Parts: sequence; structure tokens; C-alpha cells
Amino acid sequence: MIVRSRIVCIGIIAVLLTVLATLLAMLRAPDTRPAELLASLAEMKQIDALWSADVLSLELGLNPNYDSVAAPVGTLAERYRTIEKLADGDSSPTGDLPSSLAAYRSAMDAKIRIVERIKAQYSIISNSSRLLPIAAADLFAELEGGADRPPSNSPIADLLTRIVIDVASYIVTPNEQLQQVIDDQMAALREAAGRTSPEAAAKADTLLAHMAVILRQKQLGTKLIVDLTAVPTAQAIDRLQRDAQVLEADQNRYRSLLRDLVLVCSFLLVLAITWAAYLLRRHYKRLNQDNSALQQANEDAQSQLIQSSKLSAMGQMVAGITHEINTPLAYVKAVFCLIRDQMAEMQAGRTSVLGAVAELRPATADGLPDDQLGELNMLIDEGLHGLDEITNLIITMKNFSRLDKGRLEYIDIEEALDGAALIARSEVKYIADTVKDYGKIPKIHASSTQLKQVFLNLINNAAHAMADQPKRGKLTLRTRVETEDMIRIEIEDSGTGIPADVLPKIFDPFFTTKDVGKGTGMGLSICYRIIQTHGGTISARSQPGIGTTFTIILPHRAKTESEHRLEQAAA
Ligand code: ADP
Repeated sequence: MIVRSRIVCIGIIAVLLTVLATLLAMLRAPDTRPAELLASLAEMKQIDALWSADVLSLELGLNPNYDSVAAPVGTLAERYRTIEKLADGDSSPTGDLPSSLAAYRSAMDAKIRIVERIKAQYSIISNSSRLLPIAAADLFAELEGGADRPPSNSPIADLLTRIVIDVASYIVTPNEQLQQVIDDQMAALREAAGRTSPEAAAKADTLLAHMAVILRQKQLGTKLIVDLTAVPTAQAIDRLQRDAQVLEADQNRYRSLLRDLVLVCSFLLVLAITWAAYLLRRHYKRLNQDNSALQQANEDAQSQLIQSSKLSAMGQMVAGITHEINTPLAYVKAVFCLIRDQMAEMQAGRTSVLGAVAELRPATADGLPDDQLGELNMLIDEGLHGLDEITNLIITMKNFSRLDKGRLEYIDIEEALDGAALIARSEVKYIADTVKDYGKIPKIHASSTQLKQVFLNLINNAAHAMADQPKRGKLTLRTRVETEDMIRIEIEDSGTGIPADVLPKIFDPFFTTKDVGKGTGMGLSICYRIIQTHGGTISARSQPGIGTTFTIILPHRAKTESEHRLEQAAA
């Protein structure tokens, strides 16, 4: 569960970090398009206004160089391309840059077309204006009969002079009234020249043709200027500027949204990190607990190991000693038996000798008193009895050093406990109540005799511990399922308890706190060995003044002797 939460938490942190990094990168690289667009449009507007002014100056004759009116076209086209590039991909929901650009483009094309026509018209006017004085001079010369000087006093010369001046002023300020005057003057000149001579009439026609061109082109120029001022390039630029401002506003909104998202993400990240820290703390706490449990288990295992090696060493020693003692013991016992047999023979011989002597000399019949022989026999019997006790002790010690499992079978532990409690009943019944707290454990494969011996030993010890207590004691026999393949048996008493400094020694062979003759100190060490050979463990916990609990853990299936030996060899 904790592991899954940790994975989820790390996943969330990773996702949040990625999102945050992306958002920050987006914030760091701002979209400069709107600002650039606005700057280019302002520039364009300025160029466009100057251009219009140039064209007007040209038309008014204030600008002598008509090429200059074409110059802004290239610059404007370049700006247009820049703006087109900047506006590319605009998906602003509020502005419509592409359609505004298209509108500007068509206005611009119209303006270029008009400017081209103005240029052409200006070029024709300037051409005719240049030729006008030449044609006038030719006509003067013709009227003067070849002289180069104009006839200042003739009416036709006056008319010619006026008409040239009027046309010149029409070029600067064209108006209908002046045009009417010029038209009349031209008709009068054509007529006067026709009356003078055919050559003069021809020269007058040339001059009048130039004048007519100037007048026509000038009228066209006025119309083109009107058309030019009607072209909405400035409005189109204004519209583009509005769209760019909308784009900029969208951009600002987008950036503020990004900033809000960064804030939310950071907040969530802090929450996720706090959660991770909490999980980590919980995890470490659990690890620490597991660690302490493992340490405890390790310590228990070590003490079991020490205990078992102690017992093993002791077992070997006992086996050696018993073997060594056995031979002289058998010898001494045989000698005692021999002496006893010979004493019996001696006594029989003595009885018959005494009978014979009594018949011959009754006074010597009391040579060996009867009670002395009887005493000797008694001493021999006592000696033999002592030797039997030593033999029994040696058999017990031998059994300890070589605890065969006995017959292994599937046994009911609760029944075995009941059996042991029944045998110990006479020890327990006056001092304690027996409580059976059985957990319906399954049958296990073990030696019934040996386990009963263990239970009996533990119950007897419990009875001894409760014997001198002021209150009636309580003996609890408990069984539980420990794990899938282990069972637990507990024998708990409310006796004297075991002091902490004594507790580690109780499983040692020959350790006893009981008076001489009352305890051998072998009971618990034999229990330990039996449980160990069954592949289980036995331990005790105790509180002085409150009581002691012995806990046995056994596998469902006891190990075979060979398995156990192999295990010991491997250890
Ligand atoms: P013995 O009973 O012959 O002394 P054991 O090996 O059976 O030998 O016990 C060793 C010692 O452990 C006892 O002398 C006693 O001090 C202690 N002991 C064993 N069982 C209990 C118990 N239930 N309550 C208190 N002390 C106990």
C-alpha cells in the first residue's frame, strides 16, 4: 500500500515538475510579435503619410523629381512582407489580422497604380512644359520673319505672351475659369496665326497641341490626386494597428494565465512534496520498527544458537564422561556382586562349619558373630544400591547426550497437554487452578512421549514456582496457530517469576535454584534439546512476583533425525 502510494506520489511530482518547467520556459520566451507588429505598422503609417505628401508635392510642382515618389513603394513592400510574416499563424479569437492585411494589400495596390499614373501624367506635362517655350519661340520667330526676338508690340505677340503666362499659371494652380480663358485664347491664337501665314499656322498648331496636352494632363492629374486621397491605406494601417493591439492584449492575457498556472503548479508541487515527505517519514518509521524486530529476532536466534552449542558441547562431554565411568562402574558393580555371592557362600560354609564345630566343641561356635556378617551384607547391599543410583544417573545423562526422537507420529498437542496436566494433577491441584485456552491447532508430526515429557517438566516447574505463593495460583495452558506451518504452545503460571539475571541461565544443564536433592537442573535443558530436535524453539519470559510464561514454537512436521544432523553439520 505504502509502496503504491510512493509510486503515485513520485509520478505526480514528476508530472508537476515537467509541467512547471514547460510553463516557465513558455514564460521565459515571450512572444514579441505584437510589439514588433505595432512598431512596423507605426513606421509604415509614417512612410505612407510622407509618400502621399511627396505625391502631392509632385503634383503641385513643388517636387521636381518624380522618381522620388516611387521610392517608398519598395520600403512599404518590405514592411508589408515583415508584417505578413509576423501575422502568420495568428489564431487570435478577437482580432482578424489576415483579413486586415488583405484589405491593406488591395488599398496599397490601388495606390501604387494611381501613383504610377501620376508619374506618367507628370512626365507628359513636364515634357510638354519643356517643349512649350521652344514652340512659342518658333512661333515668335515665324511672326517676326525669322528674327529671334518676340514682337512685343503686335496683338498676336501679346496674345502669345498672355497665353504662355496663363498656361504656366494653370500648371501651378489649375482652375476652370482660367481654363476657359486659356481655351478662348487658344482659339484666338489659332485664328490669328492662320491669318498670318501657313507656316505660322503650323507652328501655332504645334504650340497649341502642347498646351492642349498640358491642360488635359493637368485635369487628369487633379482627378488622380482626388483618387489618391480616396485610397484608404491609412485606414487599412489603422485597422492593422487595432488588430495588433488586440493580439497584444491576447498575448498579455495568455501570459497572465501562464503565471497563474505556474502559481497553481508550484502550490500543487509543494503539496506533493509534503505528501512525499510524510510517506517517507512513515516508511522510515516502519523500517525502523522492522529493523528493531529483526534485531530482536537476531538476538533471540543468537542466544538460541549459543544455548544449543552449549548443550551440544555439554552433551559430548557427558557422553564421554558416562562412557568412561560406565566401564569402572560395571567393574565395581561386578566386584560387589562377586563379594555378595562369595559372602553368601561363606555364610553357607560358615553355618555348616559352625554346626560341625558345635557338635565337637560347642564353646568355639561363637568365633564370628552373626550380626557382623549381617552388617557386612547390608553394607554390600547399600553399596550396590548406590551403584544402581549412579547407573541410573548415567543413563539419564546418556539420554540427554543422545536424545533420540522416539516414534514420530501425527499427534494432537492439546491431548498431549491434557495428558501431562493429568499426570501432574497431584502437584497442581492444591496450589493452582488450571485454565485451558486452546486455539484448535492442527495435529503435528512429532514424538508424543518426548513432548509429553517437556509439558510435564514445565507444568511441574510451574507448580513448584506457585507452591509458596500466598494466593492460589493460576496455570494457563494455551495453544495457537503461529503461522501457516507453525504452532505456538504457552505454559503460563502466576508463580514467583525468574529474576532477570537468572533468566538467561535456566536452559543451562545442571542449573538450578532449588535446594540440594530437590532439583537436578537438567529438566529445562532436556526440554530445550527435545524441542530443538523437533525443529522448534523454546523461550521464557518472566516478571518476578507476577509469573512466568514458557513459549514453544513447533513446525507442523518435525524434522527427521538425519535432517536435523545435516542442519547441525551445516551450521
Ligand atoms: P530444576 O527444576 O531441577 O531446578 P530445571 O532445568 O527444570 O531444573 O529448572 C532450572 C531452574 O529454572 C529452576 O531451578 C528454577 O530456578 C527456574 N525455573 C524453571 N521453571 C520455572 C518457573 N515456572 N518459575 C520460576 N522459576 C522457574
